[in-house]
Amino acid sequence: MELLQEKILKDGRIEGNDILKVDNFLNHQLDIAFLNEMGKEFKNRFKDEKIDKILTIEASGIAIASIASQHFGNVPVVFAKKVESKNLDKEVYETKVYSFTKGKEYSVKVSKRYLNEGENILVLDDFLANGRAAIGLKDLVDQAGANLVGVGIAIEKGFQEGRELLLSKGIRLESLAILDSIENGVIKFR
Ligand code: 5GP
Repeated sequence: MELLQEKILKDGRIEGNDILKVDNFLNHQLDIAFLNEMGKEFKNRFKDEKIDKILTIEASGIAIASIASQHFGNVPVVFAKKVESKNLDKEVYETKVYSFTKGKEYSVKVSKRYLNEGENILVLDDFLANGRAAIGLKDLVDQAGANLVGVGIAIEKGFQEGRELLLSKGIRLESLAILDSIENGVIKFR
């Protein structure tokens, strides 16, 4: 998605050789008109699929998924919870995810009420790095007996192993922008 590449070049900030910060439109401040364009593009990529629900992970996936939902006929958006909460149902699907950015493993949960057998689920998220978050969400979908239609990612870091991992599990992956490298402060797209 050319618009996203331009936005990354204009507004993205690089940390080290492997972290791209997009706080000013995706991860902290949200550019709603821009998120809407990404939502349209996700719909375009998955237009031939029947989607019953969008699944994402808190916090950064929520905005992307919510706006994208409007292009998928306002299907419900479910976000897996990372943060411990007393309000969460006791009956949950749970999995463990290793966080690339935080360098630690955490537990991810979804109430059994909100993922059901036979539902067609589209997973959306902001970044794909090593693919752990996406595989964790697939595990929740599998536990529910639902069908994972595919994974849609805003920004894929193509120099990490996420794509390989997802494709090795037969998952359809659609990324709106793929970074080949971000070395020495220079961003190269695939
Ligand atoms: P993975 O699970 O694919 O290894 O990492 C994906 C998750 O880590 C995303 O949900 C995102 O929150 C975070 N992440 C990984 N790499 C980056 C990055 O370069 N920039 C930002 N902002 N988040 C990242």
